[in-house]
Amino acid sequence: MTAPGEILHTGAAEYPGLDEWRRLPISQQPAWRDHPDFESSIEALSAKPPLVFAGEVDKLTRRLGAVARGEAFLLQGGDCAETFHGATADRISARIKTILQMAVVLTYGASLPVVKMGRMAGQFAKPRSSDVETRGEVSLPSFRGEIVNGFDFTEESRRPDPKRMITAYDTSSATLNLVRAFTEGGFADLRAVQQWNKGFTSNPAHAKYESTAAEIDRAVRFMEACGADFEKLKRTEFYAAHEALLLDYERALTRIDSRTGKPYVTSGHFVWIGERTRDLDGAHVDYLSRVQNPLGVKLGPKTTADDVEQLIERLDPHRVPGRLTFISRMGAEAIRESLPPLIRAAQQTGAQVVWVTDPMHGNTITAKNGYKTRHFDDVMDEVRGFFEVHRDLGTYPGGLHVEMTGDDVAECLGGSDVIDETAFDDRYESLCDPRLNHKQSLEMAYLVSEALAH
Ligand code: PEP
Ligand code: MN
Repeated sequence: MTAPGEILHTGAAEYPGLDEWRRLPISQQPAWRDHPDFESSIEALSAKPPLVFAGEVDKLTRRLGAVARGEAFLLQGGDCAETFHGATADRISARIKTILQMAVVLTYGASLPVVKMGRMAGQFAKPRSSDVETRGEVSLPSFRGEIVNGFDFTEESRRPDPKRMITAYDTSSATLNLVRAFTEGGFADLRAVQQWNKGFTSNPAHAKYESTAAEIDRAVRFMEACGADFEKLKRTEFYAAHEALLLDYERALTRIDSRTGKPYVTSGHFVWIGERTRDLDGAHVDYLSRVQNPLGVKLGPKTTADDVEQLIERLDPHRVPGRLTFISRMGAEAIRESLPPLIRAAQQTGAQVVWVTDPMHGNTITAKNGYKTRHFDDVMDEVRGFFEVHRDLGTYPGGLHVEMTGDDVAECLGGSDVIDETAFDDRYESLCDPRLNHKQSLEMAYLVSEALAH
């Protein structure tokens, strides 16, 4: 990450229009405004220092502008839902390591820089399909992510608690501190990352990726022989992203940059609007249209060309390259049909948007033993569909958005080092959606890299 920008103020930002969203329909929020700790929690958050800085955020917009032009590739990865207890040094470093490993493989395949971004340091709020969860005779509020309530199925734990926003802020802050230390302190050393990748290909299940791994190895040695500055390659930019779902939290962490006089969400560099909250007349689109951060919007299979045009009008009226990233999550079955009209619609507006594939959320199934899961082959089929669609249209497939972890969990089925349902009882850890494990994530990177190279 870069030097801090100019956000000097603390206190909730005063800026015309920033409270418009309060008058609009809003979904997916906890009913906690009357909670005795609500006001004091908002006040406390409003006085906290920003987690990210305007200068970094603007730099990311420029990087995403390069992605929109086809000059870089975007990798977004991390948990479906981060947890407070999961913010340990080991787990955070494993996740960053995996993203860095994937990025090296993708950089080689694309012959382009990779913009690295974690669904990290703020990914605590979850939209749910129902407000209540019923088990047997008992109905309780749904789990909305640890920033709102607890996962345990008890009345006490499921009661929304605004003080959790403070814990989410503190956990994000600790996570970001580690992220900055790792990625700026030598952890990103290209040669070390390449060395870790050797561990992956030494597994006989991954022998088919050995030739690509050997090519990357040769490329690194070539750079060494040419006298490349590996000291510089020890550091990398790494950005934090999350779904801007909980507007009470985002509003309290919005600050005015003293350089530009404009509002920035300082809870993360990049924020996205989910499939369930991208209503054009709703609170989320209104609020995020008023902040400077680069934005993502998830697009499911029912999205229309008109939706895309309107989203561009609302969120990128000035056609800033990289301001808007569309994250399509169509499902492997639908992507080849559903995506092309949306890309064409965006093209007609003149906006330079980034197109990213989220091959996870359209491919969720329930396993025979009841676990929510995804097949690695379905996930890869959607990724292939995404590349095919862009190749046919002559547009640029800008990146990947994946739910993944650096740990050896068993949550998604398949992969060359096969995961099957029998492993779920012991190694299924996600509180929300199933993630690719470390090996499945790297395997995806190799497959995409090979596709990019051809
Ligand atoms: C998510 O990214 O975890 C999510 C809920 O996605 P979507 O809004 O695409 O359903
Ligand atoms: Mn998810």
